[in-house]
Amino acid sequence: ETGRVLSIQSHTVQGYVGNKSAVFPLQLLGYDVDPINSVQFSNHTGKLLLSLHSNRYPTFRGQVLNGQQLWDLIEGLEANDLLYYTHLLTGYIGSVSFLNTVLEVVNKLRSINPRLVYVCDPVMGDEGKLYVPPELVSVYREKVVAVASMLTPNQFEAEQLTGFRITSERDGLEACKILHSAGPSKVVITSIHLDGSILLIGSHQKAKSQPPEQFKIVIPKIPAYFTGTGDLVTALLLGWSNKYPDNLDRAAELAVSSLQALLQRTVNDYKRAGFDPQSSSLEIRLIQSQEDIRNPQVSFR
Ligand code: ADP
Ligand code: MG
Ligand code: MG
Repeated sequence: ETGRVLSIQSHTVQGYVGNKSAVFPLQLLGYDVDPINSVQFSNHTGKLLLSLHSNRYPTFRGQVLNGQQLWDLIEGLEANDLLYYTHLLTGYIGSVSFLNTVLEVVNKLRSINPRLVYVCDPVMGDEGKLYVPPELVSVYREKVVAVASMLTPNQFEAEQLTGFRITSERDGLEACKILHSAGPSKVVITSIHLDGSILLIGSHQKAKSQPPEQFKIVIPKIPAYFTGTGDLVTALLLGWSNKYPDNLDRAAELAVSSLQALLQRTVNDYKRAGFDPQSSSLEIRLIQSQEDIRNPQVSFR
C-alpha cells in the first residue's frame, strides 16, 4: 500500500514548486520519498507567469543538474544497493540530455524492480505556450510516453503529445485513448479549460484490447493563478492511485478534493491579509493544508 518514491524534480529554496510541492504531500500519505533536485533555484521562475506579472520575482539564482550529474547520483545509490524503488516520479525537465538520462534511470530501476511504476508529468507548457526547448517535445512523444505507467499532461501538453487539438470533453477522452495506445495504462489530463470551469479527465486502460474506463471531474475555476498546483496534483494522483490501484476515479476524487480545499484556503488567507488574489500568482498554503491532504473530505466527484 505504501511505497518508495524516487522523485526527480526542481527545488526552490523559497516557494512551493517541483519537489517542494510534491515531497511533503507524498510523505503525509505515508511514502518514503527520495528527492533528486534537477535544479536548485532561489525562487520559482514563474515560467509563463513572468510575462504576465513581470513585477513578480524578476530574477532568480541557482544551479542546474546535468544528465551526467544525475547519473552519478544513480551510480552512487546503486553502489550501495539503494536503487530499489516502487515508483519513479518526474516533473519539469529542461534539457534533452537530462531527459535522455531519465530514460536510462527508468531502465535501471526496472532492471531492479520490474514492477516499477513510472509516473510522468510531461511538463512542457501551458495556455498555448511552450516553456521548454521545442526539441524536448519529440523526446517525450517518441520515447518517454512509451515507458510511462501514468501520464498527467495538461490540455496543451496532451495536444503536443498527440498532435490532436482538444477543445471539448470528447476530444479529451479521445486524446487519452491515443496516449494509451502509445504506452501508459493510466492517463489524467489535469485541466481542460472550458468557459468558467476546469475539466479533469481520467482514463484507465486495464487491459490492452479493452476500451479504457473514463471519467471526468468538473472543477469551478477559482479566479486566481497558483504556482505548483500541477506538481502537487501529480504527486497526489500517484499517492492515491497506488492506494486504489483499480479505481483511478476514486484516486482522482481524493486528489482533487484535497487540492481544492488547499486552493480555497490559499485564496482566503490572501484575502484576509488584504491582498487581491488576482494581482499576482499565489503561493500555495501547503503546510497549512496537511489535514486536507491526509484526510480529504470528498467534495468533487
Ligand atoms: P499545470 O498546467 O501546471 O500542469 P493544471 O493547470 O492542470 O496544472 O492544474 C492542476 C490542478 O490544479 C487542476 O486539476 C485543478 O484541480 C487545480 N487548479 C489549478 N488552477 C486552478 C484554479 N484557478 N481554480 C481551480 N482549480 C485550479
Ligand atoms: Mg495549467
Ligand atoms: Mg502538469
